[in-house]
Amino acid sequence: MVNFLIFGPPGSGKGTQSVKLAEKFNLTHLSTGDMLRAEISAGTDLGKKMSSIMSKGELVPDEVVIEMIAARIDSTKGSSGFLFDGFPRTVAQTEALERMLNVRKMKIDSMLVLDVDHDELVKRLILRAEQSGRPDDKDPAVIENRIDVYKAKTEPIIEYCRQRGIYQPVNGMGTIDDIFDRLSRQIKKQL
Ligand code: ADP
Repeated sequence: MVNFLIFGPPGSGKGTQSVKLAEKFNLTHLSTGDMLRAEISAGTDLGKKMSSIMSKGELVPDEVVIEMIAARIDSTKGSSGFLFDGFPRTVAQTEALERMLNVRKMKIDSMLVLDVDHDELVKRLILRAEQSGRPDDKDPAVIENRIDVYKAKTEPIIEYCRQRGIYQPVNGMGTIDDIFDRLSRQIKKQL
């Protein structure tokens, strides 16, 4: 198993690229954002509790996403590895993921970081709001808050991974196909 983090600010294209990469390389795509939205649509108690946090652009508690991921890791069979999307989002989540993988004789092999300009991020998120109907994309103040939360709580993971020698920056500007080719090249190197 070869395991990747796909990393970058909200609107950097992680979700779009993850779906395509998972298919091409037989990776299991695990998106905590998708899992949380599934809880909300199913109307579960957890979904109800998390939806107000998400609609403000804040992070849900670490334990919630760590548990979701642990359950999925153990139920996955037959893939070449995991592609973690939107997880980890804090250094504590990163340490928890490393522990989870270590006890299963795995590790984080590579962190692919999509670099995208701030103005381009905001533009993409506003466009996505029109198309996807995600409530956290509708309000510009919530978008800005998500970017601030990313800088304060999530970006420090880059330094953490750099020290482990797994940091891999990728140019996230351009067409979806261009970015897909750049990411594919990095993934091929690891497989
Ligand atoms: P985006 O990358 O556009 O911000 P996601 O779909 O990854 O979107 O996440 C949407 C929201 O779900 C986040 O703003 C946050 O509230 C919550 N969320 C998703 N993943 C996590 C996580 N790993 N830790 C904490 N909160 C999370």
